[in-house]
Amino acid sequence: MDYQKIIEDIYQEILPFSHQGKQADYIPALAKVNPDQFGMCLHTVGGEVYPFMKADAAFSIQSISKVFSLAMCLSLKGEALWKRVGKEPSGTAFNSLVQLEIEKGIPRNPFINAGAIVLSDILLSELEHPEEDFLRFVRSLCEDDSVDYNMEVALSERETGYLNAAIANLLKYHGTIENDIESVLMFYFKTCSVEMNCMQLSKAFLAFTNHAPFEYAGYRLSQSRIKRLNAVMQTCGFYDEAGEFSYLVGLPGKSGVGGGIVAVCPHRYAVAVWSPRLNSKGNSVMGMKALELLTTQTQESIF
Ligand code: GLU
Repeated sequence: MDYQKIIEDIYQEILPFSHQGKQADYIPALAKVNPDQFGMCLHTVGGEVYPFMKADAAFSIQSISKVFSLAMCLSLKGEALWKRVGKEPSGTAFNSLVQLEIEKGIPRNPFINAGAIVLSDILLSELEHPEEDFLRFVRSLCEDDSVDYNMEVALSERETGYLNAAIANLLKYHGTIENDIESVLMFYFKTCSVEMNCMQLSKAFLAFTNHAPFEYAGYRLSQSRIKRLNAVMQTCGFYDEAGEFSYLVGLPGKSGVGGGIVAVCPHRYAVAVWSPRLNSKGNSVMGMKALELLTTQTQESIF
């Protein structure tokens, strides 16, 4: 399969959408990013790498970090994790409070903010050095020790993260989080602030294609667990647009408000795409289009 040529053709086809949408500006540090950028990279399980345009430009991974937190928590807690957080699509916005209140503080899934805040709490309870361990895990997935937190982004989000603070308070009220609210929120914001580029992200997600035993920085997951983690990405990875992404692209994946999307074609490849302009649901406009065309042209999806 000539992925390089396919990606180049896709880019030409999606150019008319390059000014649609706008970047996330509710986190002040993200509002400063030049919105008119595009990068993409595909890593195959055979070791081929297909970078395109700004594939080496670092961006804020934001909610993509939730997949790394989930993998660590599943490795540490196993099935018992699902007592603390659900695995049903939410059908509401990523930062919605309403459902959390009705469901008495058990978040619908680990990829909405409430769910990921619970994952952060679990990592704080389980690990002696959660911040170092999180980075070590991500660095080992992408085999690159330069990956790091961006403190400007983390602090910028802390200053304006009123909704996330409300979510954490509601969780604490219902007894779903054990640690103090401030520590949980700061750790959550730090994990979201991690910067990676498309090459590093597609390499990291190759681990989730289930082509080889999963063991990174001491965190182990069985093939069956990876399959299930992919199931959660498939049903919950795209805010309340998970159905649309499944319909158009047909791959498990995860997006972030920094404009990144990573998707996994089991046993074949992992692909990352980045373009900061988002649609009204918070997903990258160019990113969604690019992946839709990728699975259409390669005829490689899980369906
Ligand atoms: N840190 C962002 C927030 O909590 C993550 C949002 C996202 O990428 O979905 O609002």
